[in-house]
Amino acid sequence: MNYVSSAVCMVCGHEMPPAADLTLCPRCGGLLDIRYDYRRARQRFCRGLLAARKDPTMWRYRELLPVAADFAPPPLRVGGTPLYDCPRLGAALGLKRLWIKDEGVNPTASMKDRASAMAAVKAVEGGYSQIACASTGNAASSLAGAAASMGLRSYIFVPQRAPMGKIAQLLIFGARVMRVQGDYQDAFRLSAQAIDHWGWYNRNAAVNPYMLEGKKTVAMEIAEQLQWQTPDWVAVSVGDGCTIAGVWKGFHDLYECGLIQRLPRLLSVQAAGCCPINAAFAKGGPLVPQEENTLADSIAVGHPRNPDKALQAIAASQGAAVNVTDEEILAAMRLLGRLAGVFAEPAGAAALAGLSKAVQAGILPPEATAVHIVTGNGLKDVSNGIKAAGEPMDVPPDLEDLKKRLQA
Ligand SMILES: *Cc1c(COP(=O)(O)O)cnc(C)c1O
Ligand SMILES: [Zn+2]
Repeated sequence: MNYVSSAVCMVCGHEMPPAADLTLCPRCGGLLDIRYDYRRARQRFCRGLLAARKDPTMWRYRELLPVAADFAPPPLRVGGTPLYDCPRLGAALGLKRLWIKDEGVNPTASMKDRASAMAAVKAVEGGYSQIACASTGNAASSLAGAAASMGLRSYIFVPQRAPMGKIAQLLIFGARVMRVQGDYQDAFRLSAQAIDHWGWYNRNAAVNPYMLEGKKTVAMEIAEQLQWQTPDWVAVSVGDGCTIAGVWKGFHDLYECGLIQRLPRLLSVQAAGCCPINAAFAKGGPLVPQEENTLADSIAVGHPRNPDKALQAIAASQGAAVNVTDEEILAAMRLLGRLAGVFAEPAGAAALAGLSKAVQAGILPPEATAVHIVTGNGLKDVSNGIKAAGEPMDVPPDLEDLKKRLQA
């Protein structure tokens, strides 16, 4: 049993039944939003139901997900990721309390697993055996993994600059990988044409409204792990904008069902070299595409396809937008590693850099509590890890020599 009532166009308000293979609005091309009947849902979906439920994965919130009661969850364990209380890291930033939500421990090591697991479930529900997406890397590797685990075929379009760690995952999972000579936008365009031509299931988050439904489970977990005490702020790194919109919807759903009493404010963090969503938020104007000048490949999206949900989420939460340089991202990778023992890829650490900047700018007061979502694992992008942390000491196999070096 789920409580989905319909899909509604964000632009023209056109309402339609929630078919498994929904993409953009058939009338105007706007992005769709999945709606729930919260009045009915709240009679069943309560803290007690969850407290008694053993399933630790993202599917523990299935009443507020677009899946049938008898759906078969994918075999890989997605979600149920740890939330770490990080007092030393919090103190370093000047915050009263800071938690790290480590999404890097998902099966393919990024938060994209939540969306891709949902895509695989919806593809099977719709009778598809082939599924495709364009991605800067993580959506692709997560989709390839989910597809492999369920016996689906995956077709993946990545931009030229996708790091090898991510491409290796794709190939190991048996995906058909097309490395497109161009940027993310070129990869996206070619994927859209191919999906159209061959009729594959479309996992692109810029058109598939169910991807956000998968991602929202991260917010539900954060709230439950904090015993339903909402943090003041949640810091999210932003590329296409689906993640931050999903985080907002997760908290919003819980609020509508009466599981939390207030909503957090969202800190939208982008790379200074590619920040079209934050620029549009700051100006209160339309989105202007930008170049993709950052080493944080997962958030290097110069032309986000559907920024509306992200912009609405930041505004509705009374949030803020902060841009960070590549140097600040590398520094945040070191800080996170040294003070919390968590290794993030650049996009995963960007939100921490943004949080630090926002505290310094007085956007967050020192008494604020905050959660930083580490969206992806550092092993995905080893060369930037080395860039952040430097090289090891090269030593001869000689203790006397070592004594001298370690004293120096
Ligand atoms: C995709 C991704 C993001 C940003 O998510 P969007 O939905 O594109 O805004 C951030 N960090 C990592 C590691 C990602 O893979
Ligand atoms: Zn429409």
